[in-house]
Amino acid sequence: MADFDRKENPGLDYQAIVDAVLADAEVYRGHGDVATYIPALAQVNPNKLGIALALRDGSVFCAGDANEPFSAQSICKVFSLSLALQRVGPALWNHVGREPSGSPFNSIVQLESEKGKPRNPLINAGAIVVCDQLMGRRGADTTLEELLDFLRTRSGEKDINVDEQVAMSESQAGHLNRSLAHFVAAFGNLQNPVEEVLSVYFRQCSIAMSCRQLALAAQYLACDGSDCRTGESVLLPTRARRVNALMLTCGHYDNSGDFAFRIGLPGKSGVGGGILTVIPGVGTACVWSPGLNAAGTSLAGAIALEKLVERTGWSVFA
Ligand code: GLN
Repeated sequence: MADFDRKENPGLDYQAIVDAVLADAEVYRGHGDVATYIPALAQVNPNKLGIALALRDGSVFCAGDANEPFSAQSICKVFSLSLALQRVGPALWNHVGREPSGSPFNSIVQLESEKGKPRNPLINAGAIVVCDQLMGRRGADTTLEELLDFLRTRSGEKDINVDEQVAMSESQAGHLNRSLAHFVAAFGNLQNPVEEVLSVYFRQCSIAMSCRQLALAAQYLACDGSDCRTGESVLLPTRARRVNALMLTCGHYDNSGDFAFRIGLPGKSGVGGGILTVIPGVGTACVWSPGLNAAGTSLAGAIALEKLVERTGWSVFA
């Protein structure tokens, strides 16, 4: 992969870089607001801060709380999208669009005028449709197991599970997500019962993973859809590129433009405070800090990524 040869510099001291990036972000530790609309997330310690950088040769560089599992939340939309594309192929685009919404992650506004076809797979309505497509005619449990298996295989870490307490909290506080799902269903864009689909969606959001595990799990997105080390195909190259394109344009909802401007990497935020980014041809980086900005993106996490790009030149626009 020529890109890697160009961008990767074996002379760089990656451990020193992640340590420096964490120090850069330190003054923002605890800034922003922890998500409270899901009660279980409100209990998370706001002072956590971690970063993991996973390079395609398999080396991982960590700093801070990089090995502590947190609620991956919407970061998991990237993995279910990958699996749904693998399963359904281009027919997925009959059910969900690929335009940035410019709206908050849980907005229902566009669904009415756009007749139940969500703008993109990374907003909540779109991710719910992706869960439904991923299910096909299978049950919720089988679908979720497949997603968990995928995450365990891709990261090489067996200890990846749903945090049932968070899942229950999500469901109890899930009025808006239920509204989105019913709205989509009213337009005939769900093939499974709403509660079945939501049971996949809520549990997928509640998967607990560390920065290190998330960075490892997403390596195929940095290597054109293949396992970076073995070359095994995970996702067709064209599809991996499209997942990256959607992360760049839609991965942070109404904050996607600002994220692309400041960081210039495909990324996906989650309201648990994680942000996963892909450095095509090089590797992946994941940060975690629970305090969020108004769009639900980790405040200190985004600063850390900005500093990582500043220190390495790893923007896709470089
Ligand atoms: N579980 C969250 C929700 O559905 C996911 C949102 C997010 O992480 N941006 O509201």
